[in-house]
Amino acid sequence: MDLYLGVDVGSVTTKFVLMDEGKNILASCYLRTSGDPIEALKEGLRYIEKHFPHDGEIKGVGSTGSARHLAGIVVGADIVKNEITAHAIAAITRVPEVRTVFEIGGQDSKLIIIRDGVVEDFAMNTVCAAGTGSFLEHQAVRLNVPIEEFGKLALRAEQAVRIAGRCTVFAESDMIHKQQLGFGKPEIVKGLCEALVRNFINNLATGKTIEDPIVFQGGVAANEGIVQAFRDFFQGKKKIIVPPEHGVMGAWGAAILALEYAPEKTSFSGFEVISRQFESRSFNCEDCPNACEIVILKEEEDIKALWGSRCGKWTPATVRKRWEEKESSEEPLQREEESLVEG
Ligand code: SF4
Repeated sequence: MDLYLGVDVGSVTTKFVLMDEGKNILASCYLRTSGDPIEALKEGLRYIEKHFPHDGEIKGVGSTGSARHLAGIVVGADIVKNEITAHAIAAITRVPEVRTVFEIGGQDSKLIIIRDGVVEDFAMNTVCAAGTGSFLEHQAVRLNVPIEEFGKLALRAEQAVRIAGRCTVFAESDMIHKQQLGFGKPEIVKGLCEALVRNFINNLATGKTIEDPIVFQGGVAANEGIVQAFRDFFQGKKKIIVPPEHGVMGAWGAAILALEYAPEKTSFSGFEVISRQFESRSFNCEDCPNACEIVILKEEEDIKALWGSRCGKWTPATVRKRWEEKESSEEPLQREEESLVEG
């Protein structure tokens, strides 16, 4: 059986999808990146290996997400694509008539406008936490409500309470104020869901025409409170679809892109990669105002890959020369390098 693997490594979560050539998902997993994308990749590969069909053969691998280049090297991707393309192709596969995609992940959110099956426009929010899953998780901790219960609790609210959610700081102080006024947790949680939705729309949809059907995907789409808040925002006039595979749409899109790319021979690293030792490091180039972050992936002393230079000045040879110069000037290498935690 011909199989395709899709990997989506974000700053908060890492997702894997294994699919057949009919684009059917055979196995998928949704893991915490926990600041260590390489370990998350290995954990995902262990899961896929465990669920791998005995007659299966990987024919193509795609990677996406903020750490897609790193994932592409470790797993051996044939195609590396941005999240907009991966999320859009998965949404189009699931709902061919889709006109708009809402994607809310742990630390960013996206709005994609699709017309006639192609991406016409998009907007991404990577700056304001108030429109992302981390906002909800943070407030859930403050309210002592498990994040899994958040959505159900919001649906139990008997009345609405407006929480100023322009940014997380205002939201927190307003939330405390509303608690002091005597509002219950369900009302507060519902207010927070509505604040997130207003933020998403204000940050990403201004000046854009939102047509339905809307496909709502990403980890936050599991939260029924947010789904209901979107429905209320549009006063029930827009069709919002949450696909069953909403949490792994980026990884599924990466697998579909690998299938469409159809490499003659896949670059898949194989499951042996789980036992190999990789290390990623980064430094900021200070040679011009671009201040590029140069990321280096090493396996023992071998530089496997590097990326991030806008002008192409950094190669394995120039990086080695820099290291040698630093060593000879007795400046500890550790001081300028940091372990990589991709944003
Ligand atoms: S890598 Fe090139 S573009 Fe980037 S900061 Fe250095 S000199 Fe500038």
